[in-house]
Amino acid sequence: MKKTLQLESISKWLPTASKPIIISGPCSAETEDQMVTTAKQLAATGKVHALRAGIWKPRTRPGQYEGAGEEGLKWLVQAKKETGLPVTTEVANAAHVDACLKAGVDILWIGARTTVNPFSVQEIADALKGVDIPVMVKNPINPDLELWIGALERLNKAGLTKLAAIHRGFSSFEKGPFRNAPMWDMGIELKTRIPELDILCDPSHIAGNRELISFISQKALDLDMAGLMIEAHINPDAAWSDAKQQVTPANLAKIIDGLVVRTVSS
Ligand code: PEP
Ligand code: MN
Repeated sequence: MKKTLQLESISKWLPTASKPIIISGPCSAETEDQMVTTAKQLAATGKVHALRAGIWKPRTRPGQYEGAGEEGLKWLVQAKKETGLPVTTEVANAAHVDACLKAGVDILWIGARTTVNPFSVQEIADALKGVDIPVMVKNPINPDLELWIGALERLNKAGLTKLAAIHRGFSSFEKGPFRNAPMWDMGIELKTRIPELDILCDPSHIAGNRELISFISQKALDLDMAGLMIEAHINPDAAWSDAKQQVTPANLAKIIDGLVVRTVSS
């Protein structure tokens, strides 16, 4: 099969002793204390390989918490200093990229509402030309595999090789048990099209509630996905965004402990 992308495996840029790779942290960085305390509790579980937090939040409706902005980047970097864990946040434009590079963010991710827009993805790719930083690309909010692949290609053409995909489910008018329909076939088809691409799963945004996170995480591992990005917060019910789907660091540890990592025979 023709190689479509030049990629470096996630095991090279987020080396971990154990599979699956776990990225965790709050949906949003809210205050320095919330960020750093959550990070320390996550690090203390010994099960987390990188910290996440949203700094610029793409809210569906106005009037909700839209993130701490650049100030929040300092908290994220402080969390990194205190835990030794690499940190990742969402970027949606060139200004976000520049601020993250200046602050020392280790890994970037592109959110579902940005992957849909080739202008925005190209702007991010252009801002990252000549920069060697890992970028994770969430699926677009609509089930369009070509848009997902197109975003990865735009970054790859700009010279970025440390790329991974994040399967976070798809928006649907029909309401089922999930906030976003998993449509697992999309991730499977992406892996078929680009076998060398590592795919992580974001069970938090698929589920929309904390009760379904274990089930979705196990499904992702059974599909041989490389890891999980799970939202965690010191006080989930009081979170300023995505309160229903966040778990405490202690519960994150329980979820991870309950997962069965099966060896897929080829
Ligand atoms: C998030 O990770 O908090 C987020 C906004 O994700 P998504 O782009 O998947 O909606
Ligand atoms: Mn969220």
